[in-house]
Amino acid sequence: MSKMIDGKALAKRMQEELAKKVQVLEETTGVVPGLVVLLVGEDPASQVYVRNKERAALAAGFHSEVVRLPETISQEELLAQVEAYNQNSRYHGILVQLPLPPHIDEEAILLAIDPKKDVDGFHPMNMGLLWTGHPLMLPCTPAGVIAMLDAYDVAISGKRAVVVGSSNIVGKPMAQLLLAREATVTIAHSKTENLKEVTKTADILVIAIGQGHFITKDYVKEGAVVIDVGINRTDAGKIIGDVAFDEVEEVASLITPVPGGVGPMTITMLLEQTYQAAERSVIS
Ligand code: NDP
Repeated sequence: MSKMIDGKALAKRMQEELAKKVQVLEETTGVVPGLVVLLVGEDPASQVYVRNKERAALAAGFHSEVVRLPETISQEELLAQVEAYNQNSRYHGILVQLPLPPHIDEEAILLAIDPKKDVDGFHPMNMGLLWTGHPLMLPCTPAGVIAMLDAYDVAISGKRAVVVGSSNIVGKPMAQLLLAREATVTIAHSKTENLKEVTKTADILVIAIGQGHFITKDYVKEGAVVIDVGINRTDAGKIIGDVAFDEVEEVASLITPVPGGVGPMTITMLLEQTYQAAERSVIS
């Protein structure tokens, strides 16, 4: 049996299922899920990410708009844009593509998004709801990891999970989602002593550090499930993960590749959460 978790194929299946749900929602309520992405400036990586999100949203039958704003936009103008979309009932999800230019206060912008439309799950209110066990909108990458583990029937309850990386967008919410599923969770970071000893305790090992091929097989317990969130570009322009796939595959029971692992699931969860927000808008 293949040890590889095929995120690309799973994401495709989930997006096809979602497209059917979107059709039913429209037929029964007249509501079409709407996603708006605010893109500031010309960052090439952001342009690619936004294009992929728009393409996937349109393919799932969403109403989707990308608002391209100049690098020189003022904080007040950007806040006004966010507020306009907060008030616009056609859109159920608002995403401000990060990073923002240095003159913009990123936290102030994220705080301005209506938490009910915060499909990235970065608003402090959504973070707080997650940590207190009442999740509304989840950060998409960690939510995608949980969806993958479920799709591959990986038991989480009672297992030891180690998350390497403690950022607000990946590591911390990842740990909380695993805890919510009754794993015993450790969060490691760059100051963790004896990292190998820590990672070798993991039944489920999630790596999100941004260091190409950092995790070799001596960091991994025999039979562990290894999830590689990292996206790193080599000098030759190749995309690689944080895990040395070829050697870690020898010891892991399941492992995600990069590309084609966690990445496609992130977009899928973005669409899923926008759909759920649209559904909730019908009820409320
Ligand atoms: P950040 O840079 O915000 O955080 C990195 C974390 O890793 C920090 O907690 C840092 O520790 C820790 N870290 C860095 N080096 C080491 C090390 N050598 N040993 C142990 N811990 C280390 O990154 P993000 O969380 O935003 O992203 C992480 C990776 O995931 C990146 O490659 C990014 O591109 C990728 N990513 C992929 C997504 C996807 O869709 N697949 C989505 C989002 C991110 P400390 O806090 O001590 O500095």
